Amino acid sequence: MDYALYSRQLILAGFGVEGQRALGEGSCVVVGAGGLGCPALTYLGLSGVGRLTVIDEDVVEVSNLARQSLHDRASVGTPKAVSAKAALGRLAPGVEVRAVVEAVTAANALELLSGHTLIVDCSDNPATRYLLSDAAVVLGVPLVSGAGQQYEGQLAVYNYNGGPCLRCVFPRPPAPQFAPSCADVGILGPVVGTIGTLQALEAVKIIANLAPADAHPHMLLFSALALPPFRSIKLRNRKPDCIAHAATSLDIANTDYIQLCGGPRPDWESLGTQVRDPTHRIPARTLAQNLPGATILDVRPPTEFGICRIEGSINIPLPSLLASPREVLDRALAGSRDRALAGSRNRALDSLSDTATPTTSSSSDSTTPTTTSTSTTTPTTSTPTPHRIYLVCRLGNDSQVAADALREAANADAVRVAAPADAPPASASTSSNVDASTSADADAPTTSAADNAATSTSTANADDPTSTSINAGVPLVSVNTDAPAAATIAEAPAAATIAEAPTTIAEAPTTNAEAPTTNAEAPTTNAEAPTTNAEAPTTIAEAPTTNAGPPGDAPDAQLGAKMAAATGAVSSPATGVVSSPVTGAPPLEIRDLIGGLEIRDLIGGLRAWAREVDPAFPVY
Ligand SMILES: [Zn+2]
Repeated sequence: MDYALYSRQLILAGFGVEGQRALGEGSCVVVGAGGLGCPALTYLGLSGVGRLTVIDEDVVEVSNLARQSLHDRASVGTPKAVSAKAALGRLAPGVEVRAVVEAVTAANALELLSGHTLIVDCSDNPATRYLLSDAAVVLGVPLVSGAGQQYEGQLAVYNYNGGPCLRCVFPRPPAPQFAPSCADVGILGPVVGTIGTLQALEAVKIIANLAPADAHPHMLLFSALALPPFRSIKLRNRKPDCIAHAATSLDIANTDYIQLCGGPRPDWESLGTQVRDPTHRIPARTLAQNLPGATILDVRPPTEFGICRIEGSINIPLPSLLASPREVLDRALAGSRDRALAGSRNRALDSLSDTATPTTSSSSDSTTPTTTSTSTTTPTTSTPTPHRIYLVCRLGNDSQVAADALREAANADAVRVAAPADAPPASASTSSNVDASTSADADAPTTSAADNAATSTSTANADDPTSTSINAGVPLVSVNTDAPAAATIAEAPAAATIAEAPTTIAEAPTTNAEAPTTNAEAPTTNAEAPTTNAEAPTTIAEAPTTNAGPPGDAPDAQLGAKMAAATGAVSSPATGVVSSPVTGAPPLEIRDLIGGLEIRDLIGGLRAWAREVDPAFPVY
């Protein structure tokens, strides 16, 4: 034993030589060498845990380096497990480290995980979390589980001293669309640094026999922006009917954990590039050509809009747009008409002066389009200038939802015009459009808005302790565009409230396990899953930002002001279209006949823009 190296912890009361020896004889298998795994591995190694197995199939990327402290620029492209092993070799050369560059699967889990004192779960997806929990039960070892996302983190030790496993506490995993990754919704490095370090602490406590044996299992919740940032809730006891503990029914090798968790996480990037109806979507290059005179609505959260944007675009976060699509449409049309008129004047002047040199300054000021692009045939005085509204988002998913909402608003408007004044709404036309838009986005998050609406609504019950587990679904994912995250968290029940009602998750299954409205029952199963409020670990229930967020946090007045400020448009209650006598035409064509209306969204989002149009455009 290296007494000099470990002298500061050797002298700790209750630790001593025995504790250090126990650590040296102990071993941990750490699944995940990312934001949680790096700090966990660091302190496990430095403390003198004798043997560490690092399992991770991913390679180091630049975007990892802001938080994953064992990797550096030189290790970009290297498997994380290999990079972590190399770093630990420098930090803790006395520790035996094994790097495993593969995913933990149902087929290999027991083989990879066996032979260790405990399992440290630093993974980032529900399927792996449930697999590790089951394996911990089968192997009879504790599972130290950590999760982190955005500003939130959580920590729990499962299957320890007769305590519950993950399934006991959260029998049902969250649906994949409600388990976003950190790539989807973001993460602050010190948040996972905190949780990963605490995982190492729990592991050291268990191995060195420092953990009080009679302690009731708890889940620690961390909210970086809240005061106090740490809270704790009691977990329910081991569930008598938990299938994981019924040894005869648990067959890990033949369990499909991906299916158990509702299938793979949606590939938003792929979904965002699919073209279902070409009249609904626009490629980046075509959008670049059509920019002058068009209205570009960017439906990302303001924070992302602040990172980069197409010049001249207007930020209408998706929840705001979904809250009042009709108003957004009308104001966009008003702005579009103004620009179209300006464009017509400019084109007339251009033709008079015979300047036939179209510039391609796609990002020109929207009020002064200087180009006669190839896609815009020179309008005659009798040809109405089309209103072109293009929606953009990060990957091309949210913009589809937004475009559908605007199209629906346009159709409803048109139907109202087309129908006789005393006739009921032309529901057939409307429903056909709704059906079309819904089916067109069958895989896209059109339904999540409704799902999230329930979640969002529940935030009104923040003071109702019986509903707090659902409150956790409070949209952290910057869907509340006007309220700072801190405000959201500040509205969460105080620690005192939690202390008085510590059993929300554990002993109040009606608010968790059985609650059908959210996936609240599975917080830790989420990627590096967060929990917002103490008793409500449901960050899971939120949609990723690439998805349709909950509608409607921005008051309409603010939205209107934003639109007016951005477009310079004056408030216009309705477009001229509404008063048109045209009847009988398919709804959307009514506007087309009058002034034209083109609502499309950018295929592949701003990622595609960066790829195809502007290589200097920031990619994030
Ligand atoms: Zn269990």
